[in-house]
Amino acid sequence: MTVTNKTVTTKTKRYFVFSNDRLLVPINADLGTGIESLTQLTEEIFSEYVEQSVQIHVSEEAEHHLVDMQKEKVEHETMRSISMREVVMSMPKEDFQHVAQAWQYAVFLRTHQFCGRCGSRMDRVAWEMAMHCHTCQHRCYPRVSPCIIVAIRHENKILLAQGERQKETGFFSTLAGFVESGETLEEAVHREVFEEVGVKVKNVEYFKSQPWPFPHSLMVGYLAEYDSGDIVVDGKEIIEADWFDINDLPTVPPKFSIAGRLIEETQKRMGKKQV
Ligand SMILES: [Zn+2]
Repeated sequence: MTVTNKTVTTKTKRYFVFSNDRLLVPINADLGTGIESLTQLTEEIFSEYVEQSVQIHVSEEAEHHLVDMQKEKVEHETMRSISMREVVMSMPKEDFQHVAQAWQYAVFLRTHQFCGRCGSRMDRVAWEMAMHCHTCQHRCYPRVSPCIIVAIRHENKILLAQGERQKETGFFSTLAGFVESGETLEEAVHREVFEEVGVKVKNVEYFKSQPWPFPHSLMVGYLAEYDSGDIVVDGKEIIEADWFDINDLPTVPPKFSIAGRLIEETQKRMGKKQV
């Protein structure tokens, strides 16, 4: 038998602690350092909950545990709580994805206490992230809802729209919508664009994706070219939409969001074309 000399490294243990819909962080946490800041969280704040903590991620370097304090509102001089939107705005992208995972699992566990088929209490499965009903054997997994998001370009313009909710922030953004049952992602792009603004698109091309835990979407980004039709907004989801000169944009979403990156990519491509 060969014995190899392996260096034993201690894994970093991180607790993702949620109270209501907010993440607890040390009071002086520099969120720019990402989840590293969570290691300084005072354990006494959530010690009563540690027993019920759920291991959600293991890698060579780290172990992540979810602690859900549910509705308990916590006040402690060593910590503060931040919303998921603050997390997405201030943490590096990779770190945000770890918090997103933890939050989506918390939502899943909160909303699957009882079986949707027979109403019995469900139990958490030890070896995978799932809830199981021992009465009728129904098993549930965390929900991920695919949502397409698309930047449409035409000549030197990009189609941007404003929904009711974006009206408050003044943002104009790319079009987005949930994928329906039985539909491919590309079909969803064509349908959503036509439903929301009445135009047809062509050359639909996959760009990138981004988890968006509000509460469990997966944004699938596309770039597309305008094909035909005049803009007619649906008046429900979209209240205003227009073609904007790529060099003279209204207020658009920041680059931490996939909408911001789609707009940036469209700008790059148009820049290239003009050379
Ligand atoms: Zn059941």
